[in-house]
Parts: sequence; C-alpha cells; structure tokens
Amino acid sequence: MKIIMLGAPGAGKGTQAKMIAEKYSVPHISTGDIFRANIKNGTELGMEAKKYMDQGLLVPDELTVKILLDRVAKDDCKNGYVLDGFPRTIPQAEVLDKALTELGDKIDYAVNVEVPDENIINRMGGRRACLACGATYHIAHIPPKTEGICDVCGKELVLRDDDKPETVKNRLNVYHEQTQPLIDFYSAKGVLQSVDGTVDMKDVFASIVAILG
Ligand code: ADP
Ligand code: AMP
Repeated sequence: MKIIMLGAPGAGKGTQAKMIAEKYSVPHISTGDIFRANIKNGTELGMEAKKYMDQGLLVPDELTVKILLDRVAKDDCKNGYVLDGFPRTIPQAEVLDKALTELGDKIDYAVNVEVPDENIINRMGGRRACLACGATYHIAHIPPKTEGICDVCGKELVLRDDDKPETVKNRLNVYHEQTQPLIDFYSAKGVLQSVDGTVDMKDVFASIVAILG
C-alpha cells in the first residue's frame, strides 16, 4: 500500500503517518526527518537544506526528489510506504508519478488531513520534537509522560526552530501557494481522501482506517 499524507504544516501528518506505518507494517518516510537527521550529522545536504528550512521555505526540488527516490528504492519499501511531507510541489509529484509509472506502479491513497489555518499556529507553537528518534508531542494535546523528555528514547524534547510563530506564517503561505495545488492533482487521479484533522488524534486515525480498510 502506497500512501501520501497531504495537509498544512502542523495538520498532524506525521502523527497519523506513524500510526499508519505501525498498523499496516509499512515504513514511514518523512523528508523533513531525513533533512533534520542530515542537519544533526552536519552533512553537506543538511547544511544546504537548513538554509531554506530556517526561513520556512521549501528545499529545492532537485535535492528533495533525489533523497526521496533513493529512499523508496530501498528493500523495506517493496510492500509500500507512507510518505509524510513529500510531495510538496507539483513538480515533485510529477517526478514520483513518473518513477512509479515506469515500475508499473501507482499511489493508492492521498490522505488530506484538513485543519484550518487558525488552529495551525497553536499546534506548531505547542509541538515538541525529539530530534533523536523523530517522535512528536504537543504540550497541551499530546504531552509526554515526563515534561521535556521523549517517551520513546528518553532524550530531550525541543521546539523546532521552524516552529516559531514568524516562520510558521511563512510556512503556511508556502503551503497555500505551492503544496495545496496537490489536492487537485491527486483528486484528478481519483485517489484523494479527506479527513477532519481537528478532532482527537485517535478519531482522525479511525477515519483514516475506515478509508484504508
Ligand atoms: P505535521 O507532520 O503535519 O507537521 P504533526 O503530526 O507534527 O504535524 O502535528 C503537529 C502538532 O499537533 C504536534 O505537536 C502534534 O502532537 C499535534 N497534533 C497532531 N494531531 C493532533 C490532534 N488530532 N489534535 C491535537 N493536536 C494534534
Ligand atoms: P516537515 O518536517 O515535513 O514539517 O518539514 C520541515 C521542512 O523541511 C519544511 O518546511 C521544508 O523546508 C523542508 N522539507 C521537507 N519536505 C520537503 C519537500 N518535500 N520539499 C521541500 N522541502 C521540504
């Protein structure tokens, strides 16, 4: 099963993608996590990506597409995957589509998690991330067991630099301009499914499971 998560930054794509990955035994692939791991390890790719990420801008398609195509070519992706944060532009979606078509394959579902902009600023300001294992929490809605500490790996939780309010506004503008058109792109392919992302994360997941089966 090949699934794409669509939705504004902070809509809950990562939260849901992790649950989907576990239930359907497919890898969760987040281009944001891949970039953050590269930044942490001080790679050239990480240093280049950071310039854009810190401003709330998209990393150029050439860089992003390459890391994604390399990742989905790995063995663990044979039975599918859930993509979180990719594609984010029409050209990225076209490259993925072409690569899949060449393999006689296709995306099965594009799940659009709908959350209005008003809720996003609160979501992002309260998000706390573990840069070691990629787990995410919300200080009010989904708190860790011990404040500031990751439940999964025990490392310290941080407010991502790009989750600060000024940057979130830029990210939302970028989303509306460059990423939202993907809703029509996948709708035209007949694979788009939308769910209400404003309800409790368990209820969002139940709507997704109702779609995926
Ligand atoms: P995205 O991957 O779309 O950027 P995340 O999954 O990281 O979004 O979620 C953004 C923030 O909102 C996180 O702090 C997360 O814990 C919180 N969150 C996710 N889903 C819900 C929900 N259904 N209700 C309330 N908060 C949520
Ligand atoms: P995310 O963790 O998905 O919120 O992504 C964090 C940041 O990484 C984004 O604001 C972008 O700067 C960058 N990024 C992640 N995925 C992509 C992508 N598919 N295309 C371009 N930039 C991306």
